[in-house]
Amino acid sequence: MAERSKRRNGKIPGRSFRGSSQKDRERLSFVDRTLSSIGPRGPFCLLFLLFLLFLLFLNTSPISASERLVRYGMMELPPLFFRGEGGDYEGYFPDLLELLAEGEPWRISLVEGHGDELLPLLERGELDLLSMASTLALERRVDFADVHHYATWYTFFTRDDREILAFQDLDGKRLSIQGGFYALYELRRILDRLAVACEIVETRTVDEALDLLRHGDVDVCAAEQMTTANLVRRYGLRRSPVIFAPSRIVFATTKGKNGDLLARLDEKMALLQSNPLSPLKTLQRRWFYDEEFAFFPSWALSAFVVGLLLLSLALMCLAAVYRKDRIIGQRNEELEEHLALERFLAEAAQLLLSSGVGEEALREAFARVGEMTRARRLLLLRSSLSTERRRFLEIRYAYDSPDTPFPTEVLGGKIFADDVPGEWLTELNRKKIAEGGLPAPSPEVALPSGDGEGRFSFYALCEGNHLWGALAFQPLPGRGRERTEALLRTLSEMISAHLLRRKEARRLLRRATTDDLTGLPNRKVFFESLEREAARALRHGRPLSVILCDIDFFKSVNDTYGHDSGDKVLRQLARRLRKSLRAEDLPARLGGEEFGILLPETDLHQACRAAERLRMEVEETDFVLPRFREGLFLRITASFGTASFHGPSDRASALFIRADRAMYRAKEEGRNRVKSEEGLPSLPRR
Ligand code: GH3
Ligand code: MG
Ligand code: MG
Repeated sequence: MAERSKRRNGKIPGRSFRGSSQKDRERLSFVDRTLSSIGPRGPFCLLFLLFLLFLLFLNTSPISASERLVRYGMMELPPLFFRGEGGDYEGYFPDLLELLAEGEPWRISLVEGHGDELLPLLERGELDLLSMASTLALERRVDFADVHHYATWYTFFTRDDREILAFQDLDGKRLSIQGGFYALYELRRILDRLAVACEIVETRTVDEALDLLRHGDVDVCAAEQMTTANLVRRYGLRRSPVIFAPSRIVFATTKGKNGDLLARLDEKMALLQSNPLSPLKTLQRRWFYDEEFAFFPSWALSAFVVGLLLLSLALMCLAAVYRKDRIIGQRNEELEEHLALERFLAEAAQLLLSSGVGEEALREAFARVGEMTRARRLLLLRSSLSTERRRFLEIRYAYDSPDTPFPTEVLGGKIFADDVPGEWLTELNRKKIAEGGLPAPSPEVALPSGDGEGRFSFYALCEGNHLWGALAFQPLPGRGRERTEALLRTLSEMISAHLLRRKEARRLLRRATTDDLTGLPNRKVFFESLEREAARALRHGRPLSVILCDIDFFKSVNDTYGHDSGDKVLRQLARRLRKSLRAEDLPARLGGEEFGILLPETDLHQACRAAERLRMEVEETDFVLPRFREGLFLRITASFGTASFHGPSDRASALFIRADRAMYRAKEEGRNRVKSEEGLPSLPRR
């Protein structure tokens, strides 16, 4: 405030936009120096100097021939006009004037002051131009330029806790407003008409009016919305939506004077306003920045931002979908590759265990596994026991990478479990392997009997809960291990699964073809073999015979000693039969206490002799029964019937029937004897 009053009371300063007094002084001192340096050099020099002075006068004249001094009166209304920190004039009007003076022969001198001070100057012709003069122009007889410049309006400002939504809200309130403006008259007129009782405090400046509001001396301040924008923001005041007294910034001049200046101003302003790219907009934004001045209306800006957000959201969604698609594609490829690999490993695992494939094919399959696992060396080892009951692993197949030929013979084809450090194999050997899970692969170990460079990992191959063998793997240096380990794990699991399945299949086959009680082949196997052997005998013209054997009075064994004793007798008899027959003969239990024996390459006489030998062995065998004391045993006898194949006219079924009949004849004729089919003599009993 002190600065402002100094400005008002002091000499009215001026601002020049063309030339400068500092420059003038510099030029004059140059002339002084020149004059003193001339000395008494004669009239020519003097004339020359005068000529120079004349030129200098022309150049430094305050108003050149074509220039015009425009004295511009300016009422202090920040940000239209104020003094900056360095004492220079700043604000919208100084900049606007500079813009207007551009390209014009005007040298503008600024004169600041209050309206009451400046108007007399204008009227006396000491000012050429006065801005913000609409009220003055209405009240006083001064000319004004009808410049359609920036329109603004009056509104109310409150501190944050008050709200003015209508003129009626001013009832009973104290209101401050800068005096001397048409807005005050306009406000009074409206309040009178509405009969609103509002106490109005007039101030000299807008700042004072706003200060009263800030310090709580008034409830409301009425001020020009745009000119106070900066202050209002700075003080955190609230602007009401109530608008009254719209106004224009106009330039006024004394009646009848400077008409051409006003016309030129109008023209320049119209030019500046018509061009959206003119610096006028920048100027307005700089000094009056407010939402109304935004290049885009706020809704357009919001719509743009929302649109941008939606667009980026859509792009993000698209990117996410694309990424997901790519990931799914990649996963599918990986899955397909994995499935193909698993299929191959499954086939290889099956192949490596099958016996019906040529050795070369197996070696090839193993080599492919070696390539796929990127092995330096890969061994398929079969677990066995040595004669000294030492567990060893025998090399079944070995794959060596072409880069590093593997001296298999160094290991001698065998790896002893005790030689594998870390006790991995010995441990496996000792413990029974838990069902349903393979033991973890061994850590890498160096084999003492190896060539010294190789470190192997062992992957157990299990048949159920027994160690069947192992895969020994040595990687090529510098290759990815994880994938290889996963492959080997899968392969060892598959081989183990095949081993288990093969074991299970064998068990089922045994169950389907073996008699549970005696362990002999059952009736089904006997008849199938009979058919097969009959066909073979026919094809090759070879002899074939059958012996049927039925225990005599076996019912009484059961009745006397119990069923379990009977079972034991049957088991012992089966053992006896198996023992005393040739490997190519096939003894089978046909049911109950009846046995059949198939004798390939045997004619009837030989069959009868074999039957007689069996009969005697049965007769002489001491059968031990469960409840018998030591030294006690049972003796039984059996009856035998024999028959042999007759060639093309014969059938397997007929052969069996003939043997059966012979056996019944043996029963009929007193049991414990051998009878052959009719037409052929039976062997005499020894
Ligand atoms: P035969 O001299 O006429 O052959 O008299 P047998 O008593 O041996 O003949 P039979 O056909 O009358 O009786 C057969 C007996 O064999 C009846 C049954 O108790 C017995 N048997 C059949 N199968 C089994 C078996 O699996 N276990 C036991 N313990 N006895 C069996
Ligand atoms: Mg019987
Ligand atoms: Mg019997």
